Amino acid sequence: MMSVKDKKYAKLGRRRIWPSILVFVLFLLVCVAAFSFLMYLCAICIMGTKIAGHYEEAMQVGIVFDELMADGRSAEEAADDIQQYVVGKKDICITDRDGRIVLVTGDSEPNFDLLLQFDTVGQHFGAVADSKSGLVSGEAFGDMLRMPARDIFDGAFAFDDQGKTRAQWMDETIIRQDYWMQAPLKNSGYSLYVKCNLQAQRQDIAYVYILGFAAIVILLIPVVLLFVNTLRSIVMQRRMAQLIYLDTVTDGRNWLYFRNTARRILTRLRNSRKAFAMVDLHVERYNNYRACYGVAAGEELLQAMSGFLSARVGRNEAFARNEGADFGLLMLCAGDNEEEYREYCIKRVRSLIAELTGLRPEQKIRFHAGINMIPPYIAEDGKWYHVRKNVDVDELYTYANAARHESNENQEQRIAFFDQNMLGRQKWERWVEDNVEAALRNEEFQVYLQPKYNPSTGKLVGAEALVRWISLSTGMITPGHFIPIFERTGFITKLDDYMISHVAKMQAEWMIQGKKMIPVSVNVSRAHFAQEGLADHICQLVDAYGPSHELIELEVTESAFFDDKDILVETVKQLKAYGFRVSMDDFGAGYSSLNSLKDIPLDVLKLDGEFFNGDEDGVRRGEIVVREAIQLAKDLNMSVVAEGIERKEQVDFLASQDCDMIQGFYYAKPMPVEEFEKKVEEDA
Ligand code: C2E
Ligand code: MG
Ligand code: MG
Repeated sequence: MMSVKDKKYAKLGRRRIWPSILVFVLFLLVCVAAFSFLMYLCAICIMGTKIAGHYEEAMQVGIVFDELMADGRSAEEAADDIQQYVVGKKDICITDRDGRIVLVTGDSEPNFDLLLQFDTVGQHFGAVADSKSGLVSGEAFGDMLRMPARDIFDGAFAFDDQGKTRAQWMDETIIRQDYWMQAPLKNSGYSLYVKCNLQAQRQDIAYVYILGFAAIVILLIPVVLLFVNTLRSIVMQRRMAQLIYLDTVTDGRNWLYFRNTARRILTRLRNSRKAFAMVDLHVERYNNYRACYGVAAGEELLQAMSGFLSARVGRNEAFARNEGADFGLLMLCAGDNEEEYREYCIKRVRSLIAELTGLRPEQKIRFHAGINMIPPYIAEDGKWYHVRKNVDVDELYTYANAARHESNENQEQRIAFFDQNMLGRQKWERWVEDNVEAALRNEEFQVYLQPKYNPSTGKLVGAEALVRWISLSTGMITPGHFIPIFERTGFITKLDDYMISHVAKMQAEWMIQGKKMIPVSVNVSRAHFAQEGLADHICQLVDAYGPSHELIELEVTESAFFDDKDILVETVKQLKAYGFRVSMDDFGAGYSSLNSLKDIPLDVLKLDGEFFNGDEDGVRRGEIVVREAIQLAKDLNMSVVAEGIERKEQVDFLASQDCDMIQGFYYAKPMPVEEFEKKVEEDA
């Protein structure tokens, strides 16, 4: 489903040229209508004046006729006498009450089948066509106004040739139309029609044309302006659409375009039964590349990638840069089942990466990719006409990105597929990061103590402080679930401080309460050891409560010895100088280096429980290593703690080897402080 934001941008990106064109066409139509109306008005005005004149004349004839009739003349006599009283010869026609012609003068008569309407002139005139006028319909009367423009204008320049003056030529009549105008009569029972001749001179028509041209010129200005404006707005809209979808770094299409296009592809009906893959393609150490070769070179690389990908992306596929050096790629997968889709996908991504690497052969550029498979969509009812719904392109890409983050760092081409566990892990990490500060404030982290025993005497002689997160919302969380996250985020140093302080406080309370003092070891993370001034810092934390320094042992994991050895050696020496004991934790769990034993003056060696695991032969060989390790530690004046001991025979073996302490489930699991205190009392 499209978000409101998406809709807003999609709206901006749409090329809406039709409204502009529509407005222009409408305006043009209005102009044409206005022009026609103006011309019509003008023609009506000219011809109307003439018709009104004819009516006046007819009225005069009517008055004379009425008067002659009033004098007692018959209609025929009155018709004859009329000529004496009116100016010029008038053809008249008299009809009786039933419309029969009583009398008609002249060579034609009214054609009563063709009534002419002159309402538009503003007054109603009763008029009929002439029997010889050639008019075939009432409307055709308007046709008289059809103006022979060429005739006028060609002639306007050529009249000299015909030996006429301009005035003569303009006065020439070019329209001539006979008709009969009804004269209004008093109630004599007759109707009187006077024959009129409607004429238009060339100049009448020229006026209409001149006015028309003026109107065209005036109307043309806004039409041209609007036309230019419409063109501009179309061009602007095109540019806007291009800009909205432009990635300014690669000069290609941007993420907004990708989001819209990928959604369109995935929700098409014909694509619903096809498998797709959302790929996150990432340039490894891009920032380093930019720092070394310059920002411009970095952008050129991305441009080259964009150009390359656009040539490789087919129909029903899309790509765009997401951010930084990450490209999103929607890929159509060939195959018939999950396995084939994956195979196709990985092959194609590999070959893309291989070709991309070749873009800059002189520089070593590594790519890695995360792939989120989008299987064919089959609706619950199995019907073919369903399409993918609620496609969230960003979410699909986020999962591809999550897979990319988890891809194996040691591979040359790091490619990983997304699975739901990944999402679970990432959600968990986020939860931890979001909640850890509050958890520390609320004292949700608790100290658990795991006793250490002397295998020869079976006495409790020490303990290791292990953290437990008793979350108010989730319950108990063991360190394996959050320590690695803390190590990544750096929060581990805060946790270490917290544990050291709590252990120091606990021991101070034991001292005050007169309880048996048990040495307790605390884990200090490798990240912490890399900090300068750590010994002073720990000293301050412990001294805030005041227990004896000898009662606190600090465990450093063996892997810390691979970091900056100088700082480590310095810190260990200082800690020892302050009276703390320092132990090497998990010896034998990773890549042990005997060198570290040589260089660092440690007090305790903690053997990892792994030595005692494996098959019979492995255990036997492990025992040999343990025996020699204990001997080595003794020679170096170190005491030995064996961790992870679960079985009696292991205890017996370690006792026989003179191992100083054992820490393991065989004796006890890590427990809350109160429980531990009870155990110490029972042990006494
Ligand atoms: P570690 O320091 O090596 O702690 C020993 C781990 O082994 C503890 O796991 C303990 O419960 C477990 N263990 C002890 N005996 C046995 C046994 O017989 N069998 C088995 N299977 N396991 C046994 P835990 O408490 O889960 O801690 C795991 C790791 O988390 C610790 O390993 C340590 O590296 C880290 N950690 C725990 N608490 C803290 C802390 O406060 N600060 C720091 N920096 N790391 C801590
Ligand atoms: Mg430990
Ligand atoms: Mg350990």
